[in-house]
Amino acid sequence: MTASQASPARDRLRIAIQKSGRLAEPARSLLAACGLSWRQSRDKLFCYGESLPVDLLLVRDDDIPGLIADGVCDLGIVGRNELDEQAAERRRNGMPDAYQSLRGLGFGQCRLMLAVPEEWEWRGVEQLAGLRIATSYPAILADWLERQGVDAQVVELSGSVEIAPRLGTADLICDLVSSGATLAANQLKPVETLLESEAVLAGAVREPNDMRAGLLAMLLKRVDGVLHQRDSKLLMFRAAGEQQVDALRRLLPDADPIERLPDDGSGALRLQTMCHGAVTWQRLEELERAGAQGLTVLTVERSLA
Ligand code: ATP
Ligand code: ZN
Repeated sequence: MTASQASPARDRLRIAIQKSGRLAEPARSLLAACGLSWRQSRDKLFCYGESLPVDLLLVRDDDIPGLIADGVCDLGIVGRNELDEQAAERRRNGMPDAYQSLRGLGFGQCRLMLAVPEEWEWRGVEQLAGLRIATSYPAILADWLERQGVDAQVVELSGSVEIAPRLGTADLICDLVSSGATLAANQLKPVETLLESEAVLAGAVREPNDMRAGLLAMLLKRVDGVLHQRDSKLLMFRAAGEQQVDALRRLLPDADPIERLPDDGSGALRLQTMCHGAVTWQRLEELERAGAQGLTVLTVERSLA
């Protein structure tokens, strides 16, 4: 019997998020945008959900996949890098999959990359044969090396990976990169990407079959609403006739189909559409040139699609 089967029925959902660090604040604000609120206890491990039976557990990000695997938490917000690493490690140890990524959340973006000393001339992965690679992601790296068919040595380090080449404990590194500033400060340059990462909403492979199932479905729908809405703007405008509508449609490839609003007797068509890309001044001016009049842009607070 697996831990998740053994976990007792519960009527409250538990979500693990990072206590402090890069994902802590965006994770909280995403959940708050989903209508969740908690009895304030910022410095504590457990936050009791007030608006809904959804509680928060504040932990180290490394602990999140394990908490889901053990059935202690139903959901977690964690970097894909961390989730994939622990999943890869389980697989390498012959353990069954325990968690899955349910949604990409669009924050915490970074890449897991190989980086070599700046003075190296990079000729490709074959060059790695026999070299030592320092990383905090040994399972992802080992899988990747196997797929590449290259025999290199994985040196597992829990922190300060970027100084390993200077210390002589490794020849190159495999680490998370966002701006690249840390690599440059350590005279390293990125050469290969192993994984494109972002924060994900992770859940158990086995879905709960008690009260939590309904809560989980509702929360996922709200998360989708928030993600979808984040960059959405309602665009309202008028146009003289069908010809203009066709031209405007071509300028709005990232928008929903243009909707007609009831005629107001002005002779012009009253139109609106939900646009999912950036609506810049430049874009509005282009739409105006193509025949849109009285353009109004409204931000969307929330919607149930
Ligand atoms: P904890 O105390 O929770 O273990 P941590 O030091 O492991 O914290 P952070 O540095 O806050 O964690 O990073 C959390 C996550 O943020 C990473 O796992 C990764 O998904 C994401 N991230 C985004 N950009 C970067 C970056 N430049 N370096 C490291 N992580 C990044
Ligand atoms: Zn961590």
